Amino acid sequence: MAVDPLIELRDVNKYYGELHVLQDINLTVGKGEVVVVIGPSGSGKSTLCRTINRLETIQSGNISLDGQPLPAEGKALAHLRAEVGMVFQSFNLFAHKTVLQNVSLAQMKVRGRKRDEADKRSRELLDRVGLASQAAKFPAQLSGGQQQRVAIARALAMDPKALLFDEPTSALDPEMINEVLEVMQQLAREGMTMVVVTHEMGFARSAANRVVFMADGRIVEDRTPEDFFTNPRSERAKDFLSKIL
Ligand code: ADP
Ligand code: MG
Repeated sequence: MAVDPLIELRDVNKYYGELHVLQDINLTVGKGEVVVVIGPSGSGKSTLCRTINRLETIQSGNISLDGQPLPAEGKALAHLRAEVGMVFQSFNLFAHKTVLQNVSLAQMKVRGRKRDEADKRSRELLDRVGLASQAAKFPAQLSGGQQQRVAIARALAMDPKALLFDEPTSALDPEMINEVLEVMQQLAREGMTMVVVTHEMGFARSAANRVVFMADGRIVEDRTPEDFFTNPRSERAKDFLSKIL
C-alpha cells in the first residue's frame, strides 16, 4: 500500500544519560493510517510519542511532519507541534475551567480564534464526542471517561494533522474504556492519522492498519495486526502476547 507519509522518523536515537531509550528508530506513518504501538513497560513507547511531538530532544536522526523537518526549537517548533495533538493517560484538564473553556482555551491562544468562534467549534466537537450537554460543567463533575473525551475534543479543536494517544484508557475504570475507544474508532474511520499506545488489543485488531511492537528502545516488529497477532515472529513479541492475551 503506497500511502503518503505524514510522520517520518529516520534513524532516531535518544538517550537519557546512559540509557539508550530509542535505538535507531525508523517509522513512517501515512496519512489516514492508524498505528498502534505496543510493548512491555519501559520499552520506550511514551518516549517515542513525546519525541514525535518534540516534547523531548533527540541526539541523532530526523523527524519530519508532512514533508517538513521538525525544527529543534522556537516559534517554528511551537507551530508544528500544534499540528500534532496529544492525548495522555492523565487527562490534564484545567480543574478551574469549564469543559467548554477547556476546549476553547488553546484555540484562542495558539490558533488566535476569537472566543465566539472557538466556543462554536468547541460545541461542535463536544457534540461529536457525545458531551454536548456537559459544556458548562467542571472536570471534577465528569466521569473519567467523559474527561478523556473532553481531552480528545480539546486535541481535535486545534485541527491537528495527526493525533498521538499515550495509553488513553489506562487510568479509566473498566466500564468507561469503551466509550473512549468508540470515539477513537470513529476518528479512525473518518481518516484521522493516529499513533496509539495502548494495551487494548481489541482496538488494535479492529482499528489499526499496523502494529508496532517495541522492546528495549527498538522497533522489533512493524506489521499488520492480523499478521502480528496470529504469527508474531520475535521471541519478545511471543512472550509479550502470551502474557497479555
Ligand atoms: P514505556 O512508555 O514503554 O513504558 P518510557 O518511554 O516511559 O517507556 O520509558 C522508557 C525508559 O526510559 C524507561 O527505562 C524509563 O525509566 C526511562 N525514562 C523515561 N523518562 C525518563 C526521564 N525523563 N529521565 C530518565 N529516564 C527516563
Ligand atoms: Mg508509557
